[in-house]
Amino acid sequence: MPRISRRKLLGSTVITGAAAVFGSSSLNASQSPSSAPANGVDYYQKLGVTPFINAAGTYTVLSASTMPPEVQAAVALAAQHPVHLNELLVASGEYLAKRLRSEAALITAGAAAALTLGTAACVTLGNAGAILSIPTDMKELKNEVIVQKTHRYDYDHAIRNAGVRFVEVATVGEYEHAFTDRTVMAHFFNAGEGKISREDWVRIAHQHRVPCFNDAAADIPPISNLWNYTLMGFDLVTFSGGKGLRGPQCTGLLLGRKDLIEAARQNNSPNSNTIGRGMKVAKEEIVGLVAAVDWVLEQDEGAMQAEFQGRAERIADRLKSLPTLTTRIFVPAVANRVPHLLITYDPSRIRITGAQVIERMRQGNPRIELNPGTGGAPASAGLPGGPNTIIVGVWMMQPGEDMIVAGRLREVLEAAVNA
Ligand SMILES: *Cc1c(COP(=O)(O)O)cnc(C)c1O
Repeated sequence: MPRISRRKLLGSTVITGAAAVFGSSSLNASQSPSSAPANGVDYYQKLGVTPFINAAGTYTVLSASTMPPEVQAAVALAAQHPVHLNELLVASGEYLAKRLRSEAALITAGAAAALTLGTAACVTLGNAGAILSIPTDMKELKNEVIVQKTHRYDYDHAIRNAGVRFVEVATVGEYEHAFTDRTVMAHFFNAGEGKISREDWVRIAHQHRVPCFNDAAADIPPISNLWNYTLMGFDLVTFSGGKGLRGPQCTGLLLGRKDLIEAARQNNSPNSNTIGRGMKVAKEEIVGLVAAVDWVLEQDEGAMQAEFQGRAERIADRLKSLPTLTTRIFVPAVANRVPHLLITYDPSRIRITGAQVIERMRQGNPRIELNPGTGGAPASAGLPGGPNTIIVGVWMMQPGEDMIVAGRLREVLEAAVNA
């Protein structure tokens, strides 16, 4: 392969491409060569992985969200220089704590990592030796985490990774009697249902001097949730960095009490002999999440919600005239609290199932991913549904994509109309 000169790599067409991707003129081609952005090879194309229009939402397997241009630019700049990771972790934590009205903060490798590290912090607080013991050598350590039975969920595993076991309760009375001298934490799933309120959860845990954790990973918007639960008294709260916050997907926020956040940091990468060593967060990701929080705090929540509502309405308008088809815009009660479009139809008139619509949209051009609740949501997702339903998540679309989705949906459904 001929050697490509540096000059050629930094040539104007390449830089234009990169600037277009980052949507920012701050990436200046005339800076020194070492600070120039990498050239814009499209590796999705090269690898044969076709991106899609996100009509689903912030689903992990669908890569959750995309970073706004300001965040992408901050990540690209951070990539250019080495730093001391601990300095960056401490400085970013102090900055975020101030902005989010929390005593302290730590950027983690996702909310799931924050669950592990927050639990590890509770277990090892004031006992540095325990950092080496968890999760396998728990004999001398407190290892019971109280949780509402209805708050057991897929992310339990991240908590159990710290070597603890769950003690399940269903009522306030059971909760009050579940505390023992081995109780180390009380865990709350913010989007879960259950008989015990957040306020009671915190009050009773604190009567027993036990820290309580709230997993609110998918619960932005509202933006104010970034401080609502710490102000309510939860000692630890986590948010996913790559969902509503639109930071790098592999980041999370752990907010809360200063001593616990410091203990979580001690249990984390870059410290080698720790449970968190495999949960490394890179400098680009740390900076990316700080930039994402700055970005989110600048958003006008009302305008954002109105934009989502408008997208859902435009798609509904485009489909309404199909026989038997009805539409409804709904907002889930806790997680993913943004307008979604629910489409239902009589399957004897439009002869296609939601699952088949998903497949057609996925295989079309452009490729489109509908909300996975389409065709009958799993009960746990809290979405309305049945086989003849389609759910369109509009909040992760790029401007203009709503009408592309509407047009494709109309094509797919129209082709199935039983004349
Ligand atoms: C998404 C999610 C997580 C995990 O978040 P990551 O940032 O992907 O690690 C944890 N808990 C809940 C409730 C979630 O929705």
